Amino acid sequence: MRLPADAVLPEVSSLKGPLSCLNEARYGIVWGAAGAGRACYEAALEYALERTQFDRPIASFQIQQQKLAEMVLEVNRATLVAIHLGRMKDAGTLRPEHVSLGKLGNVNGALEIARNARQVLGANGVTLEYPVIRHMNNLESVVTYEGTADVHALVIGGAVTGIQAFR
Ligand SMILES: Cc1cc2nc3c(=O)[nH]c(=O)nc-3n(C[C@H](O)[C@H](O)[C@H](O)COP(=O)(O)OP(=O)(O)OC[C@H]3O[C@@H](n4cnc5c(N)ncnc54)[C@H](O)[C@@H]3O)c2cc1C
Repeated sequence: MRLPADAVLPEVSSLKGPLSCLNEARYGIVWGAAGAGRACYEAALEYALERTQFDRPIASFQIQQQKLAEMVLEVNRATLVAIHLGRMKDAGTLRPEHVSLGKLGNVNGALEIARNARQVLGANGVTLEYPVIRHMNNLESVVTYEGTADVHALVIGGAVTGIQAFR
């Protein structure tokens, strides 16, 4: 079947149309990953305050607090990146390389949060009773779709060096 060039996206006649759609979807992932990370952090915080071992909530142990601190740092970093990219989008200055920075960084960061959160939940971390393992599995697939982590790294590498390495 042959479709006229503007059948799907009117007034667009090249790959620019589909590529701009992908850029929009990837921008959405920047926010989605920040949200998944936040959900994992909040589940871990709630659990750490409720779960007691040796007559104390596990949130009172320094090593658990370190994990929570690392999680909340990343939640805030990812959210600020998403807000910043959103402002650039509104200003019309957002480029695909910026979206690559946001997608790669926020997905990697959310996975790191999910891994920490899963540990705070102990064995419960691998059950579907809590949201963490679901987000973790989902994030593993987000690493691959909408541009693999490798390809986003190459886009960033190309932007900083001026040398394209993926071909
Ligand atoms: C859950 C899920 C949903 C998806 N949904 C969609 C969808 O809705 N629409 C759609 O079109 N696709 C979708 N995909 C497909 C996804 O976009 C592809 O899986 C992805 O682009 C990688 O392609 P591939 O699997 O063929 O791997 P390959 O291209 O074979 O890549 C394999 C590995 O080699 C690396 N690699 C490839 N080329 C290079 C290079 N030049 N330099 C360095 N490393 C390289 C990749 O990063 C990857 O790690 C989905 C995938 C998943 C997992």
